[in-house]
Amino acid sequence: MESDRLRIHHLNCISGCPLGGLVMDGFTKTSLRGRLTSHCLLVETPDSLVLIDTGYGLRDVVNPRSRIHPIFRALIRPELREEMTAIRQIERLGFRARDVRHIVLSHLDFDHAGGLDDFPEATVHMLGEEMRSATEQATLLDRMRYRPQQWGTRHQWRTYEVDSGGTWLGFERVRELSNVDADIVMVPLIGHTLGHAGVAIRRAEGWLLYAADAYFYHAEMDSSPRCTPGLAAYQRLMEKDRALRLLNQRRLRELRAADSKISIFCAHDVREFERLAGRSHRTPVDTADRGPAASRVRGGDSDIMQSAAQHFDFDRERASDPPSDPPNPGDPGPPILEPMPDDPRSNRKIPPIDKPPPAL
Ligand SMILES: [Zn+2]
Repeated sequence: MESDRLRIHHLNCISGCPLGGLVMDGFTKTSLRGRLTSHCLLVETPDSLVLIDTGYGLRDVVNPRSRIHPIFRALIRPELREEMTAIRQIERLGFRARDVRHIVLSHLDFDHAGGLDDFPEATVHMLGEEMRSATEQATLLDRMRYRPQQWGTRHQWRTYEVDSGGTWLGFERVRELSNVDADIVMVPLIGHTLGHAGVAIRRAEGWLLYAADAYFYHAEMDSSPRCTPGLAAYQRLMEKDRALRLLNQRRLRELRAADSKISIFCAHDVREFERLAGRSHRTPVDTADRGPAASRVRGGDSDIMQSAAQHFDFDRERASDPPSDPPNPGDPGPPILEPMPDDPRSNRKIPPIDKPPPAL
């Protein structure tokens, strides 16, 4: 399809407030609780909505104790605001739950799969290995991170094996999404979990690669990579295969260096979210981002997505370069202008991240 006919929305589907403050996120100086995003994407294709990762959902907001492990509730302490769930933000855009026909999951961790139950009619795409790891629950960590309580959509899962598949910008065994009217591919980025995948979307101006939890801190993609001590430790705590995790981080850095048009971002970095979304990570999507298809939904046309293709008239400028919201009163705003801990204006230094092993 023509990739310039996609509209892509960046949604932070509930922030995490990890213990550690500055040591975790690299910018919070006034609290022991830092800030992490749950960066999700909503893609409007000509015939459906595709949600990429779901963050936390309504049921997590209403009853977190039954769905999120107590250790992660204490460690990450998600800021459970209903208006930040994917479903509520999608409704702000003028759509309904049933308009989301496809969900692509990078992996099944509790902070990515919590919104599944809010889209009971969606087909859920993921790598087969992730489904097996999550359902086997072989280790204590697996039982803490994978929460079957969040999987009301299990009978609609569509899994992809990586023993076949093509190549994509040097990455192998990638799988293209089936039955979706857009160029969306799952790129295996194994390491954080055994079935972890990035999701790449072709736009007119170049590929967008959501790397999910393949890395956690924007500077890990720099040519001289570095990470906050807290996020480096958290990644080690959660990893299922260190060698592959570090190898895939290196390959992502190489891809970014080699392709100036590609935009690579991860799930939990506030700076990356605010740069791409053009608004504070604390605010839900702007209703001004509603497109023509959403207008038809508001008008009561129940088959909106079938006929949306004839009515889409995409604003290229807005799709590629979202405007910034005016700052909210009381909102400290994006942390982009604050000095980094490794900034020359700061005395703190972030140590270099682990080097990948020499060979696999
Ligand atoms: Zn995560």
